[in-house]
Amino acid sequence: MAAAQRILLTGATGQDGSYLVDQLSGEGHEIHALIRPGDLLPADDRVIWRTGDLADTQSLVDIVDEVEPDIVFNLAGISSVAFSWQQPLATVEVSGAAVAALIEASWRLQERKGRTVRFVQASSSEIFGSAIESPQTETTPVRPASPYGAAKALGHSLMGIYRSRGMHASSAILYNHESPRRPETFVTRKITAQVARIAAGLEETLQLGNLDSRRDWGWAPDYVDAMVRMADAESGGDYVIATGRTHSVRDFAGAAFLRAGVLDWQDRLEVDDRFKRPADVAEMRGDPSRAREELGWSPTLAFEEIVGAMVEHDLALVRAAS
Ligand code: GDP
Repeated sequence: MAAAQRILLTGATGQDGSYLVDQLSGEGHEIHALIRPGDLLPADDRVIWRTGDLADTQSLVDIVDEVEPDIVFNLAGISSVAFSWQQPLATVEVSGAAVAALIEASWRLQERKGRTVRFVQASSSEIFGSAIESPQTETTPVRPASPYGAAKALGHSLMGIYRSRGMHASSAILYNHESPRRPETFVTRKITAQVARIAAGLEETLQLGNLDSRRDWGWAPDYVDAMVRMADAESGGDYVIATGRTHSVRDFAGAAFLRAGVLDWQDRLEVDDRFKRPADVAEMRGDPSRAREELGWSPTLAFEEIVGAMVEHDLALVRAAS
């Protein structure tokens, strides 16, 4: 980003937020980040920490009014489709209603100050649900199939609505993006963490749900970089951020086992119905052509490199602990 900006970031302690802080700090920006009331203040002095609750919309409005940001990155939210089936109301509040509060407060700030306030919303491929076409693009119909997808669809629609009101608002339609900072609630990290334990002889088997699900897995820092490019672009827009290639859960597990040197992996992989979902999307694949053409964005790591980076990280963790 060219000039120093005042940035308001939600979700700073999550995977994407932490990479965003890594990317933007040191460039002279003033980064204000939200933490939940009751959370321990992180020992990270690259950002100015502010307490606010995504479920309390007034606290979000107050923070926008206090910080008066040039750019808002809304990365917070319930990031798990699985969790959204257990807590649909909390999901809609935190990943849907909070977006309405933040964008409206940002729009009012823009009106009041007479200067542009840019907004980047971390949306999700889940807005397409069981998509009617593959790969999906920015014009694929929004048809969510989970409470998580529905909440994200609301945030996505709001970006278009506020663009019509004159805001620089972007929806980053992010496909699955992974890294060693993923928690084990996601299948990729669950796999690499368990594979590392198996390779070290600490565990015998890996239990998963649907092995045939196919996902378009990318490298999280690349996806964060795409969102920075959206904030920097001349105008706001919707952008599919994906690699355009898919692999199955079985492919991911096989690649991880082989990387860790576990050759008899087929015998180690077990299906456990507890990890299957009520309504699972069989395949998600995005077409990132618009992001490539308009933002000059493209993925830097291939599938095998992502698996490799995650496995190496987890092998090092296991070694350090023993
Ligand atoms: P999502 O695509 O955002 O839901 O990301 P996840 O990493 O949670 O799931 C990706 C795919 O892996 C989904 O189709 C899951 O049903 C499938 N999957 C298979 N086994 C598991 C498992 O044990 N845990 C999780 N989280 N997902 C699994």
